Amino acid sequence: MKKAFLIKYAEIGIKGKNRFLFEDALVNNIKSALEKVEGEFDVTKESGRIYVLPSTDYDFDEVVDALSHVFGIVGICPMHQVEDEGFDALADRVIEYIKESYDEVNFTFKVHSRRARKNYPMESMEINAALGSKILEAFPETSVDVHNPQEMINVEIRNSINIYSKTLPGPGGMPVGTAGKAMLLLSGGIDSPVAGWMTAKRGVKVDAVYFHAPPYTSERAKQKVVDLAKLVSKYSGPMNLYVVNFTDIQMYIYDKCPHDELTIIMRRYMMKIAEHFAKVEGSHGLITGESIGQVASQTMQSLAATNEVCTIPVFRPVIAFDKQEIVDISLKIGTYETSILPYEDCCTTFVAKHPVTKPNINIIKRSETNLAEKIDEMFEEAINTAELIEIK
Ligand code: ATP
Ligand code: MG
Repeated sequence: MKKAFLIKYAEIGIKGKNRFLFEDALVNNIKSALEKVEGEFDVTKESGRIYVLPSTDYDFDEVVDALSHVFGIVGICPMHQVEDEGFDALADRVIEYIKESYDEVNFTFKVHSRRARKNYPMESMEINAALGSKILEAFPETSVDVHNPQEMINVEIRNSINIYSKTLPGPGGMPVGTAGKAMLLLSGGIDSPVAGWMTAKRGVKVDAVYFHAPPYTSERAKQKVVDLAKLVSKYSGPMNLYVVNFTDIQMYIYDKCPHDELTIIMRRYMMKIAEHFAKVEGSHGLITGESIGQVASQTMQSLAATNEVCTIPVFRPVIAFDKQEIVDISLKIGTYETSILPYEDCCTTFVAKHPVTKPNINIIKRSETNLAEKIDEMFEEAINTAELIEIK
């Protein structure tokens, strides 16, 4: 008997001719995720099934934790894989499986057998009935319920026989790398890590850019963003994080433009710089954690003003979420505790008391002409001095 995991995936099963691409990506992503776990694992694909087959000792919880971060997986079924040694041996293996998998065996159940190999000498119905009686005999506190069983005992007869009954939840979504790339504007807040996670969930490979403003923002604030990038990359895979020194641009805008427009103008430059790095990475869009009305810079008019400088699509996955809904996701994916650490943010350092909430693009553009003398140079400087951190 070998212990293994059967991987269930849903959406990628319906991709027609491209299905193998999705399955191969999922297999590869599972392999990468398991590289961080102690032990050796074979990950194989066999007629619409993906198996994780450990070939050494391993820690069950660690494997499940790694798999539960791989987008594309809907369910993780711990299983026993046994050889075909006749029906009586199979019944023994099933009983063993149940003994090992449950602390108390007092549930209602149904046996669900499938024959992928039609030369097995019994029909599925026969196997169900015969295994059912064996289970009832071995565990007198169980009973059969064919309509609404508490436990479904699955027995799949292939070259080997798979026995499983439990499904641990996967994160769902699509395998990362099957849906292009995007550049996340990652701040130290709650929203942008969630926005990055949501986009990666749909199969998009995510890189990130962070703007800091030393000495107004600290090394700790930067480390917090690096930590957030690591947390997101547990799901999204390796990530390039560009850290851009935004101080000069920010000060220059502060000197030359009306203070109530500062945030909008700053955000327009952030988008432009982010777009530059998106192009470097071959990304198809930008991602932000903006949500309508959350702050002055996120009214419809402000979003329009920020968006106006971009030539590639800007995706805002949390645009219509309430803060609490975003918080709930950040708690679920494990970024919340880091996001709420109280380090300063470059946007808040120079923020005006009464920022415009309905910026007029023409007025903003006119203010930006005050920057003509040095902004191009500063833009180049910011790009050229950006630090690239490879998050693995
Ligand atoms: P978050 O919780 O993601 O920080 P927020 O509610 O603080 O968002 P803003 O500060 O207005 O909102 O920022 C809106 C979006 O702009 C962020 O979600 C993020 O995508 C991007 N952004 C803001 N500040 C930075 C920064 N310093 N570096 C990179 N991106 C940023
Ligand atoms: Mg923020």
